[in-house]
Amino acid sequence: MTHVQLDEPVTALAGVGAAKARQLQDHFGIVTVRDLLEHYPRRYHDAGAVTDVESTVVGQPATLVGSVVDWQQKRTNTRAGRRLDLRTAIVEQPSGQRFLATFFNQPWRERGLPVGTTAAFSGKVERFRGDVQLSAPSVDVIGLATAAIDEAAFDHQRLVPLYPSTDQLPSHQLQALLSQAVERAKLTEGEWLPDELRAKHRLIDWGAAIRQIHQPHCQEEHIAARHRLVFDELFSLQLGIQWRRAQHEVDAVGRHNPPRGDGLAARFIDALPFVLTGAQQRALNELANDLAGGRPMHRLLQGDVGSGKTIVAAWSMLCAVDNRRQAAMMVPTEVLAEQHYATLQQVLAPLGVNVLDGVRIGLLTSSTPQAERRRVMSELLSGAMDVVIGTHALLQEGVRFADLGVAVVDEQHRFGVAQRVGLRQKAAGEDAADVVPDVLVMTATPIPRSLAMTIYGDLDVSVLDELPQGRQPIVTQLITPDQAHRRAALYDFVREQVENGKRAYVVCPFVEPSTQLAGRAAVEEHHRLGEILTGIPVTLVHGRMRPSEKDEAMQAFRTGQAPVLVATTVIEVGVDVPEATVMVIEDAERFGISQLHQLRGRVGRGTDKSYCVLFAGFSGELSDDARKRLEAVAATTDGFALAEADLDLRGAGQLFGARQSGARDLKLTHWRRDLRAIERTRSLARSVIAQDPQLASPQHARLRTEVLRRFDGGLEAFDILESG
Ligand code: ADP
Ligand code: MG
Repeated sequence: MTHVQLDEPVTALAGVGAAKARQLQDHFGIVTVRDLLEHYPRRYHDAGAVTDVESTVVGQPATLVGSVVDWQQKRTNTRAGRRLDLRTAIVEQPSGQRFLATFFNQPWRERGLPVGTTAAFSGKVERFRGDVQLSAPSVDVIGLATAAIDEAAFDHQRLVPLYPSTDQLPSHQLQALLSQAVERAKLTEGEWLPDELRAKHRLIDWGAAIRQIHQPHCQEEHIAARHRLVFDELFSLQLGIQWRRAQHEVDAVGRHNPPRGDGLAARFIDALPFVLTGAQQRALNELANDLAGGRPMHRLLQGDVGSGKTIVAAWSMLCAVDNRRQAAMMVPTEVLAEQHYATLQQVLAPLGVNVLDGVRIGLLTSSTPQAERRRVMSELLSGAMDVVIGTHALLQEGVRFADLGVAVVDEQHRFGVAQRVGLRQKAAGEDAADVVPDVLVMTATPIPRSLAMTIYGDLDVSVLDELPQGRQPIVTQLITPDQAHRRAALYDFVREQVENGKRAYVVCPFVEPSTQLAGRAAVEEHHRLGEILTGIPVTLVHGRMRPSEKDEAMQAFRTGQAPVLVATTVIEVGVDVPEATVMVIEDAERFGISQLHQLRGRVGRGTDKSYCVLFAGFSGELSDDARKRLEAVAATTDGFALAEADLDLRGAGQLFGARQSGARDLKLTHWRRDLRAIERTRSLARSVIAQDPQLASPQHARLRTEVLRRFDGGLEAFDILESG
């Protein structure tokens, strides 16, 4: 058998023509033989642990393997009169036992599982006329009816790899390609770690790892392979991050904005009507160190909704002002910009802000009138304006600062890459490109610390893991159609709350009724609630309203003039109305975990008991996944716990994919299981870069090549602050 090179296109393999190569690229980004080898199984079917029909228990989940021997089809009507296509596969196990797999309205299943196909069927066990039946099971095709594959599948020694697959590239086809690739590729050429390092961390060589991840003979082989390949993923990522950071530090000149004991920042904290939480105090101390230090601050402030991030941000901005520099804060929505602007003005008023000779603070959004905009821009350029709050309008051409000391990005996950780079680059005149401001990015979508460490590398992280005193946990209720009658009671409850001076939000997924998608529309709901809640002014805010209308509605809600607000997700982030105690979310299954958590975070911001009611399943069937999400949200108000639940449900891969623009996904790494590897590779990468900040020494040539290869977006992919 002739060898193929790792970097050769997949067409070097037998059976891969131009069309197949195209599919591999389109579906999985696979171009070279090496890319194919890095297409790892998503799990294995343990052929040694095949369950037989006899030992299944009705009502319990089971995975049954067998070959399809026949298909039967029935057409019926449901009670509601809808047509139902019912197809049943009759599947035979090696023992000769048979079971049934039924599918509803999925005629394509029969094409995907022609007679002779061997597959693993997973689902809940039922009995149907004496036969064991799995209804609507999930299916993994293991092989076609060729003798060779059949044997492999039932060889009790073997774990059968199941690959991420598509209709055109089913798992068994990928399996055949991969066994060819593993046979023919020059695996020894893929090694990139020095022997010494491998020995020290007990890592098998790359070639063996690739062979064993695709064709493990036993569990132990698989574990050793995974151990090695996870190490590769994490180590190369960490190396890239630290390498990039080292480059930044060589170029960057920090601003040095040390807090001053008698400054505005200190007086601002003293004047607050409450005491800081321990977590806020800790964060201030951490920021103080950065601000006083010589290198620019790069800090992420993670804090659950309502944990009081704005205070920390405001303080850091005032530190810039105390050092005769400017500060800017960029937020994702106009509603939020207005709110921060108003709050800042209010809390700074006693300190002499915006009075003659005091600190000047401005607002810049896309709806700022032309003349006002020109004034703000010219004051920013001349240095007459000290603090500006704005949306991405801050990034428009013509916005220049005289001397930007501190830049804050709130709800950073809502901004794109270019936008975040933009703010930082506006720090000073063009000729001072290397002078960077102290940067604070904030997010209320917490991620577990281990993950933050991986994704953000050496970006410093502060965490507000404590809510201000006196907050009461929000009571969350999930209401499904079987409890539809509780709706009326809810509206009575809303009325009662409003009569006690409280406010309520009602969130709908759509602005207007849609013909394609079922679900409540804010415009209609506004009308409906106006009729139900007679005597209570109900207002409306959504993204298609003019800015001035939005403003008016928010203002009416804030002041209590209209104590009920029907809204779309425009109010998802940041909005702070402490009197609000009820959050009703319609068609809650349409939202993700973090969105629901953010929406819920709009209540419970004062000391009153607050409630969140999730209506779900009213505009269509509630899927298992959706139910799991909603139950997770109902079960806890801890944002970190929810972030973990979200990761478990969606997998970390997606998260990394989104964050590491240009970087390859971490395919095998599991954020929880691989905690130790994350920590180990991080400190290892750190020591390598400490020794050789440019990865320039000949001894590190292979590491350098590998890091660059893995991150084909270039080193910028590691610019976590910007691309995070
Ligand atoms: P988030 O972290 O979600 O941005 P905010 O900064 O909007 O939270 O703060 C939420 C609410 O809590 C605000 O009304 C704020 O004034 C208040 N708050 C902040 N810190 C404290 C504190 N230490 N004690 C009491 N209330 C606080
Ligand atoms: Mg906030």
